[in-house]
Amino acid sequence: MATWNIGKVVGTKQWSKTLHSLYIESDIDPFEAGQFVKIALKIDGEVVERPYSLVNPPDSRPLEIYYVEVPNGPLTSRLVKLIPGDEILVASRAHGFMILDEVPQAKHLWLMATGTGVGPFLSILTTDKPWQRYERVVLVYAVRTLSELSYQERILQIQAEHPEKFSFIPFLSRENLDSALSGRIPQAIIDGRLETHIGIKISVENSQIMLCGNPQMVKDTSNVLIERGLKKHRRFEPGQITAENYW
Ligand SMILES: Cc1cc2nc3c(=O)[nH]c(=O)nc-3n(C[C@H](O)[C@H](O)[C@H](O)COP(=O)(O)OP(=O)(O)OC[C@H]3O[C@@H](n4cnc5c(N)ncnc54)[C@H](O)[C@@H]3O)c2cc1C
Repeated sequence: MATWNIGKVVGTKQWSKTLHSLYIESDIDPFEAGQFVKIALKIDGEVVERPYSLVNPPDSRPLEIYYVEVPNGPLTSRLVKLIPGDEILVASRAHGFMILDEVPQAKHLWLMATGTGVGPFLSILTTDKPWQRYERVVLVYAVRTLSELSYQERILQIQAEHPEKFSFIPFLSRENLDSALSGRIPQAIIDGRLETHIGIKISVENSQIMLCGNPQMVKDTSNVLIERGLKKHRRFEPGQITAENYW
């Protein structure tokens, strides 16, 4: 059972028709970049809670979550109505293993997200750890259309701060754009486009891969990587693939 703190909404941002960020002031225990926290609202007398990745790095406040409004979604259909000053319940502790301390050392770190799954990676990328531990860090961010590619300014900032180490690969599945790859992540690994695009090979020896978001992407990408000899990472059986499904 979560211990709830009463947080206060201090800001909101709407990126597109369905994509939103929510900024919350709340005391929570120290957390690691990449972790999620439970958020809840009392709806018709019942506490409706869901986990959300924290987008802000651990040393920065307010807390920030990035979410999509799900049609008829019990919680998100209420989150979109919140305005600054409203109260929201926030669990006192964050959880989750999508953190770099759980990921083995390698030359290259690949962060692959669909949609809102980019959130924990933005938190990780705005800490020092990835830059101290990996020679190259690649963010692969897949959405349907350019209008869904939120946080571009923050990504440009990361690029400006780490020009030698960072590569950003946006993917659009329903639009064609010169600056983005088209289609889906697993197919682009199969046909080699992803690696050719930045000139780095995914390999058992050199790569650690973190996957986050849509369970179908996580499954299909994991399967493609497993075919290439990579393994799911477990604490007592080190591998190269660390994943989090959002549903
Ligand atoms: C560890 C973890 C971390 C999560 N972090 C985030 C996050 O940072 N941002 C976020 O938006 N969601 C995140 N989720 C999903 C989130 O907890 C909710 O399920 C989601 O916001 C919808 O809540 P709901 O009550 O409106 O609908 P729900 O009844 O919870 O979901 C209904 C359906 O909506 C779809 N759905 C749920 N989440 C998403 C999504 N993110 N993108 C597209 N379709 C979705 C699924 O088909 C799901 O079955 C996370 C889930 C987990 C397990």
